[in-house]
Amino acid sequence: MQAALRPLISEPPAPAASEPFFPPQLLARLDKNGPRYTSYPTADRYHGGFGEQDYRQALQQRRAVTPDEPLSLYVHIPFCDSVCYYCACNKVVTRHHERAARYLDALAQEIALHVRELGAGVPVSQLHFGGGTPTFLSDDELTRLMQDLRASFRFEPEAEISIEVDPRTATPARLAHLRQLGFNRLSFGVQDFDPKVQVAVHRVQSFDDVRTLMQSARALGYDSVNVDLIYGLPLQTTESFTRTISQVVMLRPDRIALYAYAHLPERFKPQRRINDADLPDRATRVGLLSSAIDGFLQQGYTYIGMDHFALNTDALAIAKQRGELHRNFQGYSTQPDRDLVALGVSAIGRIGNTYSQNAKGLDAYYAAIESGQFAVERGLALNADDVVRREVIMDIMCQGRVDFARIEARHGLRFGDYFSRELLQMANLAELGLVNLRAGEVQVTGLGWYFVRAVAMAFDGYLRSVSTSASYSRII
Ligand code: SF4
Repeated sequence: MQAALRPLISEPPAPAASEPFFPPQLLARLDKNGPRYTSYPTADRYHGGFGEQDYRQALQQRRAVTPDEPLSLYVHIPFCDSVCYYCACNKVVTRHHERAARYLDALAQEIALHVRELGAGVPVSQLHFGGGTPTFLSDDELTRLMQDLRASFRFEPEAEISIEVDPRTATPARLAHLRQLGFNRLSFGVQDFDPKVQVAVHRVQSFDDVRTLMQSARALGYDSVNVDLIYGLPLQTTESFTRTISQVVMLRPDRIALYAYAHLPERFKPQRRINDADLPDRATRVGLLSSAIDGFLQQGYTYIGMDHFALNTDALAIAKQRGELHRNFQGYSTQPDRDLVALGVSAIGRIGNTYSQNAKGLDAYYAAIESGQFAVERGLALNADDVVRREVIMDIMCQGRVDFARIEARHGLRFGDYFSRELLQMANLAELGLVNLRAGEVQVTGLGWYFVRAVAMAFDGYLRSVSTSASYSRII
């Protein structure tokens, strides 16, 4: 049966005022640390035993087996003009824009290394520039980078070409230049419009400036505009965040990503500049998230899952309705999870059943690339158990449903035997109203979508003890 003919996924209803999105008794049991499952196994499972030679072999195998399958590309630009105190990204804060020149040379060399292994002209269906701040680069530098990519890969006519834009480093003229280069999707980092919150996180940008950019993006014909927000930031209140949500809704982005701030100052140095006493308490965090969900649902957005919303008419919302969602390192997507070639410092890619991550420091990255080696520092070759669990977890995260017969047919196992322990956990979650456990399938309920990570975690083969989840962010 085709996916489009399957029953539509249950959409979370907007609860009545007396009905919280996150019932306290569920929060008490389920609001623990958990992965976001942009990959499975998650990146903290990668290890140094997987290195440059393993990555090279994975590329060679791809060339031998699926040379003409379209690729996704990711390019990481690590530089930022100033630091945002909540930041947990891999970045280099500098005012020295001339530092980009050597980086672009290295990217060109890294592209050439890939062409040597994959062949020239491999089709590309998706390209994403992330960071750091991709718009740290000048127009000329962005032009050069796109020329290098287009000279080595063959972009499909309908390819999604997207870039993260820091509104503080963009103007309408800059958006026009990006459009000329072929970018058709933008993602604006907004986080919060409240002036006090912006000062507290050292990221000040006015609503008017973002509105001007949004209007330009529409006039320039970008296919999709995304806005990123964060809840749980210092000085946020339910009232202030409700104002931010109203302002975002006025801008009418096609998609919204709403991330939970994870305060881990022992791991991320910039976060030490945040005053702990200014952080919203747990009850306020739940209120922030609930008011955001409520505001978006009431204004014509669909809750996609985890931290994503999309206009009801957007391709992502339609894909969810049809059970055709996918998930990759950028979050939810309408495109199948293709092999991903990741370029630049710290970038994570996926080739076949392998994941790999480049060196996190610029010195190590340059040393490898400039000596003609890939900069892969760690990675993972999935075993058979990883592969089956990845499929089950992605079915939960994307379709909200696991069809036992499909998994059995694809992996030659008996679902009830292989996942006997997990099915006991599903029975517990069914009692909580998060899943429906029927003959031959698990289906996530409307309520369960808000806790979908907790459902997926039951199938994570690496989460056998509480201590292993300490490095993840909380579910709410
Ligand atoms: S949040 Fe983005 S712009 Fe801010 S410091 Fe981190 S990477 Fe740079």
